Amino acid sequence: MTTITTDYLVIGAGALGMAFADTLLAETGAHITIVDRHARPGGHWNDAYPFVALHQPSATYGVASRALGSGTIDAHGPNAGLYELATGPEVTAYFNAVMQQHFLPSGRVTYHPMSTYEGDGRIVSILSGKETRVQVRKRLVDATFIGTVVPSTQRPAFKVAQGVELVPPNALPALWMHESPAPRPFVVIGAGKTSMDTIVFLLQAGASPDDIIWVKPRETWLWNRKHTQPGMEFFVQTLGGFTTMLEAAATARTAEEIFLTLEREGIFLRVDPSVRADMFHYPTISEGEVALLRRVKNVLRKGHVREITRHGLVFDAGVHEIGGNPIYVNCTATAFTRRAPEPVFSDNRILLQMVRVPNVVLSGAMAAWVEAHGKDDAEKNRLCPAVPFPDRMEDWPATLLGNLMSEGAALSHPALMAWQNACRLNPAGKLVSLVPEDDAEKQAILARVSAAIMPAIANLQKLVKQVG
Ligand SMILES: Cc1cc2nc3c(=O)[nH]c(=O)nc-3n(C[C@H](O)[C@H](O)[C@H](O)COP(=O)(O)OP(=O)(O)OC[C@H]3O[C@@H](n4cnc5c(N)ncnc54)[C@H](O)[C@@H]3O)c2cc1C
Repeated sequence: MTTITTDYLVIGAGALGMAFADTLLAETGAHITIVDRHARPGGHWNDAYPFVALHQPSATYGVASRALGSGTIDAHGPNAGLYELATGPEVTAYFNAVMQQHFLPSGRVTYHPMSTYEGDGRIVSILSGKETRVQVRKRLVDATFIGTVVPSTQRPAFKVAQGVELVPPNALPALWMHESPAPRPFVVIGAGKTSMDTIVFLLQAGASPDDIIWVKPRETWLWNRKHTQPGMEFFVQTLGGFTTMLEAAATARTAEEIFLTLEREGIFLRVDPSVRADMFHYPTISEGEVALLRRVKNVLRKGHVREITRHGLVFDAGVHEIGGNPIYVNCTATAFTRRAPEPVFSDNRILLQMVRVPNVVLSGAMAAWVEAHGKDDAEKNRLCPAVPFPDRMEDWPATLLGNLMSEGAALSHPALMAWQNACRLNPAGKLVSLVPEDDAEKQAILARVSAAIMPAIANLQKLVKQVG
């Protein structure tokens, strides 16, 4: 057994842990030890399906010190006209470069890949079984809270009979090796963004929409990517969208009213607007992708799948027969584990969580900045309040309120605001600080934001109480 000492021991080299370590390195002289089960940094991106891409622009993802992508606006495909989205392999290559070209050469980071943190300062190598004891001088940093799960690493929650072909989306690009006859139909199980990525992939790779059956236990609200863009050329769409959100939040009598107002303004979308949506995990999508998804007409809304047999799908209400030579694609993993927020800073621990939903990476970087410059844990927790992540539509007012309170807390600290406004992971702050005084259209939007904030906070508090 080896014993080492370090200032901070970070568990998890996913986006959250990497963004935290990067800013801590920049803002302090601390030594950091990072441990992760995966062979390379990037967390779940290592397990994702090969056709995965960021849902949001590369321009605001990753760590604060290094740009991801080239800031190109896509000229082709369903994301045309919007900032580029890094593919999964680009994301993992990026985090690997951050580790190999920045963290390790600094001489202040020690990295334990393919190792498990077992608690009590014990790191165990998965390959050798060797144990390392870590003495932590400052804090243990837990970067595993968000609990991202992808289909390739999770068993399905339903039974699968022998002989049924059930695959994660990862298997689809390898179908050229499938023994004949080629499988058809494609039965895509799941209602979240993974199922949407899978269907867009199948259609773009040549599948007929008639050969796709989409099994949707729930319907989700979607955020129109057009309204999440970072550049000044998108100011009116992005900040204007946020303003509309605040104004709707200030007057709505229910959470659903906010969603419906945003849908009328084109800021939120539903694949099928005739079906009530009750889920919201911040999936971000382009209108081009939604147009493709609407080509699939075979949509099964019979609740959750309980079992797949040789004959078809078993729901609580009975069996739905599937003919042909089907391949079932499991897209049922949820990207976030539902947990109630906890204080980020306590005793010798930092429990990284989202302090701006859904911005995972800004949240990690901000916690590091606050750890470096905050006075004590009371101030640090005030500047970095954990914000709950929504599951259902009714949960969203609490998230919106949490984001506004978190932004308000940062406003009270000029040095934190200055850092936040300069940080590449925070698109809105930068845009707002750069608006020229004589730009009447943009200044009018900023004035609407100022007018709507306090009424939005007051009304959101009422909506949160309604849910209890
Ligand atoms: C398909 C998909 C697309 C997404 N697109 C976006 C996007 O565009 N923008 C965005 O902001 N977010 C996006 N997300 C959300 C995404 O989850 C976050 O951006 C981010 O990658 C989460 O990182 P994380 O570090 O919290 O979790 P993870 O990536 O899960 O990393 C946690 C790490 O901790 C390690 N670990 C856990 N326990 C231990 C232990 N005991 N010992 C050692 N190691 C341990 C795990 O091995 C893992 O590597 C997307 C998610 C998915 C699934």
